[in-house]
Amino acid sequence: MNYKLLLLPITIIIYCTIMNLSKFDDSFIKGIIHILLQSSLLIGLIILVQKSVFRFIIAIFLGVELFTLLSYDSSLSVSLVMSLLNTSIGESVSFIKFNFITILLTIVFLVSLTILPVPKRKPLYMLLSILGGGYILVPSIVSANTLFSSTKYESYRKTGLARGFSNDYISVEYFLNVDIGYRFPAIRAIKGITDSIEFFSQQVELTSTWKNVTSKSSNDDLLVLGIGESLRADNLGIYGYSRDTTPYLSQQLNSISLFENVYSAGTNTWSAIPPTLTKSTGSPDLSKSIINLAKDAGYTTYWISNHAKASHWDFSISAIAEQADHTFFFSNDEGGGVYDIELLGKLKSIIANRNNKTFVVLHFYGSHMYFEDRYPDEYAQFQSDNTILDEYDNSILYTDYVQAETIKLISANKGKYLFFADHGLGSPDGDIPLKHDVRKEPDLSSLKVPFFTFPKVNIFQNIGTKQAISLYYFECIFSKWSKITSTDLTENNYCDNALKSNKVTFIDSNLNKHVSSNEDRKIEIVSVL
Ligand SMILES: [Zn+2]
Repeated sequence: MNYKLLLLPITIIIYCTIMNLSKFDDSFIKGIIHILLQSSLLIGLIILVQKSVFRFIIAIFLGVELFTLLSYDSSLSVSLVMSLLNTSIGESVSFIKFNFITILLTIVFLVSLTILPVPKRKPLYMLLSILGGGYILVPSIVSANTLFSSTKYESYRKTGLARGFSNDYISVEYFLNVDIGYRFPAIRAIKGITDSIEFFSQQVELTSTWKNVTSKSSNDDLLVLGIGESLRADNLGIYGYSRDTTPYLSQQLNSISLFENVYSAGTNTWSAIPPTLTKSTGSPDLSKSIINLAKDAGYTTYWISNHAKASHWDFSISAIAEQADHTFFFSNDEGGGVYDIELLGKLKSIIANRNNKTFVVLHFYGSHMYFEDRYPDEYAQFQSDNTILDEYDNSILYTDYVQAETIKLISANKGKYLFFADHGLGSPDGDIPLKHDVRKEPDLSSLKVPFFTFPKVNIFQNIGTKQAISLYYFECIFSKWSKITSTDLTENNYCDNALKSNKVTFIDSNLNKHVSSNEDRKIEIVSVL
């Protein structure tokens, strides 16, 4: 017996164990059976192909899923593809640092699967691959007639149809992603890849298509919208966090309206901002952005950003930014080129030189990863064993200062300010601590973001500050706040219904729309699209 020949099967069994840990929740015995059968399939497959170049291709496919599972507790999705493509060289270094162990494990797996010795094709091993193949296919064939008549398939089909897929494509995808995907999780990467291709091929209309825009504001109106970054409401002192991360804002509580149950439209910047700033039906319609709405109402519009400009993959956000009459980017390839306070210098000069109704968007870099780069040294005030949490809270302390200064500047110029964060992050003591919660069903706490207006507002008459508000419908909130409206927002009571709803609506990492359950606003998803 050549013991070296055992190394490859052991590697594959470890891989399958990691990929199928969640199955142990159902039953321990079932978990073991899944792992053994799946390992048989992979071992059989590797022995069948023999050549290391083909083994390497299989390893990459499996390795991607291993990496995304370990780092994000998720399969490959459009969202992850976008974030990875978005990572500039400077960020790559931090990215590797942040995910060092996962990357190392993935590389060890890739190399092992490619170079470890494999036994020759003996009947015993051929039997293994037949067994594994049967494990994948037989249950599907047996359940074929119930598979496609389930309510789960019906809701999957509706989502797919809304995004323009054909019936045939949807059924194949469902079969691979849900049915086979349960027994062989790595196959789900195919959905991430096809969704990304579909996303990139979308054509977008950018010129305004708002109908009958009217505005009740005066000629010297000054509206400023601040968009924060990766900011969890639960980590802010003003929302009851145990650390006082918001000493300045705490002093402002008498002059701001603080909303307590506000949920972002997505779990990362590029998926959250387009549906937040546009009227979305299915996918965001960039022609119906709040920038176009304000322009149609006679405002001169500005977009001041500390995010990367040359980030082609952020194109939907950059496309909205470019709709403004004037855009200023403080960062080129990599976001966070300056500390956020610098944005106020630009705002000051816009205010000083304005002679018309003005609408300014400040796109802060806030608490974007890597937290320690987001604030000057004097804000490094929190210290404990949990360095990452300390750094995150320090970045919020700095944001508190920046927001207080913003309010001061706008107050001195009799303007109106509205602030929210684009999305939160996973709970510090949850499954994906302080990372983007790009799982298919994110925790609601990772969507919960701060939201306030200065001065106090009384715009949401029948909505208290405790009612659940989904930023997915921000165009309606913006309309109430700015007193700019369009028949697109009033017809069929679109905004009244959207704002009255106590449910949480958001887009997941594959751009599917979710509506949460009403009770306790738990994350249980009751309907998809
Ligand atoms: Zn973000």
